[in-house]
Order: sequence, then structure tokens, then C-alpha cells
Amino acid sequence: MLTHNLGYPRIGSKRQLKKACEAYWAGKIPLNDLKKTAEEIRETNWKLQQEAGLDLIPSNDFSFYDQVLDMAFTVGAIPERYHEILTEQKKPEIDLYFAMARGYQKEGLDIIAMEMTKWFDTNYHYIVPEFTKGQQFKLFSTKVLDEFKEAKRLGVHTKPVLLGPVSFLLLGKEKEDGFHRLDLLKQLLPVYIDVLKKLEALNADWVQIDEPFLAMDLGDDEKSAVQWAYGEIKKAVPGLKILLTTYFGSLGDNLGFVAGLPVCGLHVDLVRAPEQLDAVLEAIPPNMSLSLGVVDGRNIWKNDYQASLELISKARDNKQDDRLLIGSSCSLLHSPCDLEEESDEESLSAALKSWLAFARQKVNEIAELRAIAMDSFSAQHKALLEGNKEALRSKATSIQIHKPIVQEAVAGLRPIHGKRKNSFSSRKALQAKHLDLPYFATTTIGSFPQTKEVRQWRSQLKRGILTENQYDDNIKAATEKAIRWQEEMDLDVLVHGEFERNDMVEYFGEKLEGFAFTQNGWVQSYGSRCVKPPIIYGDVSRAEPMTLFWTKFAQSLTDKPVKGMLTGPVTILQWSFVRNDQPRKTTCQQIALAIREEVKDLENAGIHVIQIDEPALREGLPLRHADWDNYLHWAVECFRISASGVEDITQIHTHMCYSEFNDIIEHIAAMDADVITIECSRSQMELLDAFAAFNYPNDIGPGVYDIHSPRVPSTAEMVSLLEKAKAVVPYQQLWVNPDCGLKTRGWEETEEALKRMVDAAKKLRAEM
Ligand code: GLN
Ligand code: ZN
Repeated sequence: MLTHNLGYPRIGSKRQLKKACEAYWAGKIPLNDLKKTAEEIRETNWKLQQEAGLDLIPSNDFSFYDQVLDMAFTVGAIPERYHEILTEQKKPEIDLYFAMARGYQKEGLDIIAMEMTKWFDTNYHYIVPEFTKGQQFKLFSTKVLDEFKEAKRLGVHTKPVLLGPVSFLLLGKEKEDGFHRLDLLKQLLPVYIDVLKKLEALNADWVQIDEPFLAMDLGDDEKSAVQWAYGEIKKAVPGLKILLTTYFGSLGDNLGFVAGLPVCGLHVDLVRAPEQLDAVLEAIPPNMSLSLGVVDGRNIWKNDYQASLELISKARDNKQDDRLLIGSSCSLLHSPCDLEEESDEESLSAALKSWLAFARQKVNEIAELRAIAMDSFSAQHKALLEGNKEALRSKATSIQIHKPIVQEAVAGLRPIHGKRKNSFSSRKALQAKHLDLPYFATTTIGSFPQTKEVRQWRSQLKRGILTENQYDDNIKAATEKAIRWQEEMDLDVLVHGEFERNDMVEYFGEKLEGFAFTQNGWVQSYGSRCVKPPIIYGDVSRAEPMTLFWTKFAQSLTDKPVKGMLTGPVTILQWSFVRNDQPRKTTCQQIALAIREEVKDLENAGIHVIQIDEPALREGLPLRHADWDNYLHWAVECFRISASGVEDITQIHTHMCYSEFNDIIEHIAAMDADVITIECSRSQMELLDAFAAFNYPNDIGPGVYDIHSPRVPSTAEMVSLLEKAKAVVPYQQLWVNPDCGLKTRGWEETEEALKRMVDAAKKLRAEM
């Protein structure tokens, strides 16, 4: 049995790559320094995997920005608009590469970046390849060959990793009409074959080709494209061992044709879909190797050796050892680098640490699993297995994790917990009377500019430079200023500004029981941007009110309604590392109950407008359509649990940072929020159509200006957007607000934009 890993995090355990890239972009370090950092990261990664004893160590898993962009660069899929950067400006290739990712506004050029979107159901974002009709490809970058040679020089014979041709095309977008991007496969494949032949000439043996789409719903055209491509590859490089990888789900109904592909090996994700093993073993021919993805690349928990060994043993009953590989479920890109970087007992207790494995530890797990599987009688291996079992036992029984009160509360959930007392129409009448708001009521989404100053207070509090009292006084002053200013602006529903929050999930995670935070558990989100997701390790409960103090304080300053501001259960779940010892749904229900208590406390304190943000609801959608309903059902129910503990008079808002609702509109309606605010300005209100077509009954605040750029739109522009909205949604249902929170904006543009926004609302009222 061989051991391997599908990919290693490339940011560096101290985020060296982020720092070097940003310094290079800012012109602070020369290209050579950036390249040197990259070389050091690659060498460290290769060596540590070699030392752990992995047989097949990936290369070309490194990237300066993104592996999909790397593939586009490799095959020369470089949109026209960037060509000048090389031809006229004579810049190094890497500047062209970064320009594609980030845009290029320099030396008289203003070229926009390529689009970015989420990588399957992860929080990683890739650069979307752009395709045109009849596009030609050529080998443009030799990165994959260079890195293979570089590793070779360091004494590591690697397994190069390529994003597969069909997935590469499917991940992209047609930039003009009249063709489908899969039509380009014929032109594209020769470049892949060229690369593979060159790898063969360099004595590569195994090559990993990722086709993550094989775990998705595929049409016949897509299936034939895969069949054709791998048939051609087999003909061209019969000697190379192609390891075709799938991950993030089960092969499902694609198994039949995938098992018939002429590849040397197939990798399956047995963390997300352990149940597929039987069918896979039955389907694949005896001479096809099988790679068992048993070590979770997407989460931070220690592997359950016993469970993995059972899968391995089942495979061994069906296949010769020399046809088996043991590996990570997917690339470790989605895991933090190294648990050993966590030294602070206060944030991660010793017990919690003993339940975790980050990328470096996962590599060891892969090696240990093979060792134990091969020889379970050696004393050393027995000890390894026992140690693992002991850690899992302590996790299974820890009182840090298991809280009977929380479990009973979840068990006690009944449909009534997810239902408001009366229907929206009767609530609306009560709320209107109580709040006395005009038509086209104005509000904002929650946060006001998080200036350097505000962030500094937080870091000064952490370092003991500010006392808690001093910090609170500063936040109070900022909040008061924001309230006064909103009054002056004549906004209708005010917000406190979220100055006390570092991040909309972290803030709540720090206050809730069952959450832990790492110091260095960074994961790449896109390019140089990394996130440090909280770890939900135990039953979640609310020890004390989380937002009451600041909301009450803000409300005490004004007679206008102040909107309480909470992050919803689905979003908190989605943006954290979650438990793997209970269903996501259960964890979500626990969070929902905690938020519900907060909502009730706010209401009791006289707060009668409360917003529960769910920007991540859509991104939780499963990869397979067949699983959507089940997810949406519990996700929406969790939102409703959090929102439904209040009286009819209390107005519940929700907010989502997108407006693709066509395919889930009935579930959005089922959330039954009194008001939903969504992002709409960039799509010119087109996306309201889904609501109109559905006769969406509750109130809607379609964003009237884009908060992602400092540009301040004119009043007339906002009026015209509102006119458009009014044409599809009855005006009695409309609110007026920006697209999203304003935390990334400066005060100057915020003030101007909101002033104009209020003017726009007034113009519409005057026209009535
Ligand atoms: N209330 C949050 C804010 O305004 C919402 C942010 C979000 O939707 N991502 O910042
Ligand atoms: Zn938003």
C-alpha cells in the first residue's frame, strides 16, 4: 500500500506567502525575495512529508494565488485584455499572473480582474477561467515541470498534481455566446498531453489529475467529455500512472462510467462518503488502483484510526495491497498548517489539542494508518492505535463537550418553536402601528466603518494598553456619535454600528460556550487572504447575553428604533470548523437556541426590531441537487427557531449578501422574516424578479448602493433603482438600504452615500 497526500497548504505555517505577496504587490520587496519565500515553503512542505514517510508527495500544489488560475496560466488561457502587460509593458510573467487575479491599475492601464467564486462547497475562492469561442491553447507556463524538477533536485520524487481538463473547463465561464466551454476540450487536451509527455520524459510515474466534478450531477455531454479525454490521455502516455481524484462527495451515479475509464488509479473521498466504498470496490476492475481518502482534508479533528482501519481492511479483502493507496480525503489546503504552532493553553486547552490534527499532523496520520494496517502486532503500532483510541474516548465522554442541558433542549424542540404566533399580515399591522414607519423606510445593514482607530482599541485592550473601562468608553463614544449622526441623517431604523465586533462570527463564538479559537489556524480563503475559523468543539450554549449591553446602550440614546444585530445560526455554523461527532443540523439547532434566547432578551429590553444575518445560508447548499431540500429544510427551521420566540409586535429582519434566489425562493419565503435585506444594486434590481414571480409576501429591502467600492452613487441613480424595484414589488413592501454592512468603508463616503439614500427615499414618498 502506498501513502500519499492530495495537496499541502501553501501559505506557510506563519503565513509567509501572504506577507511576501503583499510586500511584493506594494513594491516593498523585489521579485527574487518573493520567489525565495515560495521556494522555502515548497521545500519545507516536501521535506516534512518526506520525513513523515509519505510515498507520493504532491508537487504543483503550491500556488502564488490559486490553482485554477495556475492551470489557466499553464494552458495559456489568458484573456486579451492582459496581453499588453507583457508585450507593451515588458513586465515579468508573474505580474501578468497577479494582474489576472487582482486587476492592474498602473502606468496608465486600468484592467479589471477576473471573477472569483467559491470552490465547490468550501470557503476557498478560485479565479474563474474565461473562455471565448474557438479559443486556442498553448503551453504557456512550465510551472508544473519546474516544480517537479525543483523537488527532484531536493531529493524528492513527487507526484505532480493537475486540475483535470474537464473540471478546468466546467469551472470557467463563456465570455461570448454561441458555444459551450466543453466544446474547447478538443483544443485544450493537446496541451495537457504535451505536459504529461514532458513529465514522462522527466521520469514522473504517478500523476494526480483532479476531476472534482465527478462528485457532482453530470449530464451526458459532460460524461462523454470525461470518457473522451481520459481515453486520449491513455493513448498518448500509456506509461504514466494517472491517479484520477474525486472529492467532496460520493461518485454516486457517476461511478459506473468512472470505473470504466482507462486510468491507473481512482481516488475516492471516504470522509464525506464512506458508504460508497462497497460500491466502488465492486465497480472498479482488478487492475485499477484505489486510493482511500480516509484522513479529512476539510476539518481539524484527529482521525478515528479504528474506523479508518476498518475501511482499509475492507479494501484489502477485495484488492491486492499493491493496488491500494491511503491518503487525505482531498487537498489539505482547507486545513490549518500545524497544530504545534498553537502554544497558548488559554485559547486551546491541552484536552482540546489532543483531539485535533492540522495538515502536518494529518500527514503523520496517513503514514501511521498504513503502518498499523500493515503490521498491527508490533508493539509500537499497538501503542499508536491505543493512543488514538484514548484521545477519542476522552473526546466522547468529555464534560467540556457534552452538556446534557443543551442536548435536552434540542431534544425538546417542537414545530411550535419555529413558528411566529400569527401570520405575517397580522404581524405587519401591529408592527406598523407600533413602529410608525413611513413607506420606503430607511435603514442600514448593521456595521459602520471599522476604522483603524476602532481596530486599534481592540488590539490595545488585548495588550493591556487600554483597560476594559477605557475600551468600553471609546466604543460608547463611537456608538453615540453614530446614533447622533443617524438621527441627523433622518434614517428611520437605526443601528448601533457594531464597533465592538471584530468579526460577525468570531464575536459570537467568543461569547458562546462550545467554541474555541486558534492563534495560527489560518486557512487560505483567496489569494493572500486567510481566515481563522472558530472551532465548534462542544455543545453550544449561551452563558450570558451577548449583544444586550450595546444594543440597550444605543437605544437609550434615541427615541427612534434601534435594530438589534445578530448573526444567524446557519452562518455561524457555516463559517466555523464544526464537530464531526454529530450531524451539522444538531449543532445548528444548538446555536439557534442560543440566538433565540438573545432575541428574547433583546425584546424584553424593549428592542422591537431585530436583525438575524444569514449571509451564508446559500453557500451551505449541498453539491448534489437531490440533497438541497433536506439541507434547506433544517437550515430554514434553525433560522425560524432563532427568530420565533418573540411577540408579533417585534419585527424580525434578516440579511443576505446576494440575490440569487430563483432556485430557493420558496425556502427564503419559509424563513418568514418580516423584512429581508439583500444585495441588489449591482444587478440593477433584476434579481428582485424571483421575489415578484413568487409573490413574495413579506417586506424586502433591495440594496440601492454597492458597498464594495468607495464610489458614491447619485440620488437620481438610487431613485431610479427604487423605481425599478417598485415596478416589480408593491411599494408597501419596500425598504431602502445599502447592499450590505459598511464596515469596510470610510466615513466620508458613507456619510455622503447615506445622505443621498435618505433623499432618494424621500423623493419616492413625495411622488406617492
Ligand atoms: N450585520 C453585518 C454587517 O453589517 C452583516 C454583514 C454581512 O452580511 N456579511 O456588517
Ligand atoms: Zn451582507
